This record gives sequence, structure tokens and C-alpha cells, in this order.
Amino acid sequence: MTQPAAASTETPATAPTAAFIGLGAMGTPMAAQLAGQMPTLVWNRTPGKAEAHAAEYGSTASDLEELAGANFIFSCLPTSAEVDIYIDRLLPKLRPGTLWIDCTSGRPAAAREQAARLSAAGVEFLDAPVSGGPAGAKAGTLAVMVGGEAATFERALPLLNTFGGTVLLVGPVGSGFAVKAVNNVLMGLHLLSVAEGLASLKKQGVDLAPALTVLNAGSGSSFSSQNKVSQQVFTRQFSPMFKLGLLAKDAGIALENIQEVQASAPLIAATAMLLRAAQATVGSDVDHTEAVKLVELLNGVELS
Ligand code: NDP
Repeated sequence: MTQPAAASTETPATAPTAAFIGLGAMGTPMAAQLAGQMPTLVWNRTPGKAEAHAAEYGSTASDLEELAGANFIFSCLPTSAEVDIYIDRLLPKLRPGTLWIDCTSGRPAAAREQAARLSAAGVEFLDAPVSGGPAGAKAGTLAVMVGGEAATFERALPLLNTFGGTVLLVGPVGSGFAVKAVNNVLMGLHLLSVAEGLASLKKQGVDLAPALTVLNAGSGSSFSSQNKVSQQVFTRQFSPMFKLGLLAKDAGIALENIQEVQASAPLIAATAMLLRAAQATVGSDVDHTEAVKLVELLNGVELS
């Protein structure tokens, strides 16, 4: 007869915990996905958002210092400058073996400095910016472009898969931010170029609705022409999901990166400058699709 297994005398290992800093449009659904899989502490500058997150998604609203006890610390803040602030504040309390994963769309040079500072305390770092918007985070389908060591990436992968659909290591620390900057400057370029094309068509007396439909069935289409123009520009419903100021920041990072390696990329440079001009003209906190208003202003037409 099989004997029952002796009761284990070992203390069960403590379940790994995650922590999340920055519950904005992206951080809120990303932290919700993590909280669905593991104990997750959340902190936000405006504390009410952390309390609301805990109530809705089962995370735990915490003091900033408490986050230092987590095994995995995520940040998703506007820029690398804000991430620096929280690395500085938590660094003295972080334990060796902790992994910091920055999902901000940040600067590669900042990532390299942050990784070096954390490494001196035995803390690992990945830059893991995302693409796909709040809807992609809710659906768990974000594109996640990761920079760092392969072994560190493998450690983080189960967590990144909670909100990511395509999660890939793209190179050493900073590479994720470099790819993300190119992704977003391309998105800005596509948006502005389709707006320019449509403005020129309107001035030629062309009916924009069928023109867009046929362009989208042709080889000149893009994600922007297929989704953004009909849903936001033509309807004038520029519902805020991704701020124009953040897109202009990302294009600026792409420009900084091409200048650093002396790449020849005049379209990236022009897009970065046009997005800055749009931000100055239309505002920072409006949805990025409102950048088309610069093209409308320059041409004296409305794209509707
Ligand atoms: P939001 O503007 O929606 O949220 C910003 C978050 O950062 C809020 O939690 C805000 O706190 C916090 N924050 C801002 N300044 C500070 C500060 N000085 N100290 C502490 N916390 C601060 O931004 P998103 O969520 O849209 O963007 C976050 C990052 O993700 C950006 O780098 C962006 O480029 C990137 N991104 C955004 C996408 C989108 O579709 N929105 C898609 C992919 C990437 P508080 O609530 O107190 O204001």
C-alpha cells in the first residue's frame, strides 16, 4: 500500500510580488493585468487613482517606500526624467535581485545610466516600452520591445506576457527605447503625411470620404489612414488616449538617437520638428491625432 507522503517541513517560498509606479492611461490597464496574476502593489502621484485601482482590480495601494520590497518594480511615467526621480528615491531601499522594468517611452541614454546605477546595488534593469494603447493593454495584446540581458528578459517574460501579445528582446539596455522611438516617429509621419495628402485633395475639389476609402484599399494606406482618419479626424472626435506632447517627445527621442549615431534620416527630422510645431499650435494634452490641425491650418481646410 502506498504510504501518504510525509508533510513537508519546508516553509513555502513567498510568492513573488510586483509593484507598479504610474497609473496613467497605460499604467492603469497594465497594472490591472499584473494584479490578475500576482500580488501587485501600486503607487501613483495622485493617490486617489491608486486607491481606485485597488478597489477595481485587486491591487494594493501602497506608500512609495513599500514598493521597494517587491521582486519586480514596473514604472510607466511620461519621460525618463520622472523615472530618474523614483529610482533615486527607492534605490537606498532596493534589495539585490530586484528587477526594475521601465515601460515608459524613454531615452536610450537614460536607460543605460539607470541600468548602471541600479546594477551597482545588485538590481537588474530592462527598458520595456509598449505600443498598442490602453485598448491593447486591456486586451493583453501590446507590442513590448525590450532592451537588456537575455537572462533578465527570461525572468521578466511571464510578467510582460500579462499585458503583451508580441514581446521581444531587441538588444542590450536602451534598445527597447530606441525601437519605440522609431515606432512612434513612423506613426507621426504616417499621420501627418495622410493629412497632407488629404488636405491637398480637398483643395483640388476631391470628395474626401470616397478618396480615403479607395486610398485604404490601395498601396498608400497605413494604420493611421485606416483607423485614425475616419474614426477621429473626419468625425472631429479627438478623444484623448495618447497625448500629442508625448508623441512629440518620442519623435524628439528618435531625432536625438539618429543625431547620436550620425544617421541620415531627413524624414524623421522633419517629422520631429512638425510634431513640435503641432504641439505648440494645438497643445500638449490633446490627443495626438489633433496634430492634423497644423496641416489644416497651413492649408486653410478642415479634413472632414
Ligand atoms: P498619462 O499622461 O496618461 O499618465 C502619466 C502618469 O505619470 C500618471 O500616472 C501621472 O500621475 C504620472 N506622472 C506624471 N508626472 C509625474 C511626476 N512628475 N511624478 C510622478 N508621477 C508622474 O500617460 P500615459 O499613460 O499615456 O503614458 C505613459 C508612458 O507610456 C509615456 O512615456 C507614453 O509616451 C507611453 N505610452 C503611451 C501610450 C498611450 O496610448 N497613452 C501608448 C504607448 C506608450 P498623475 O495621475 O498624478 O498625473
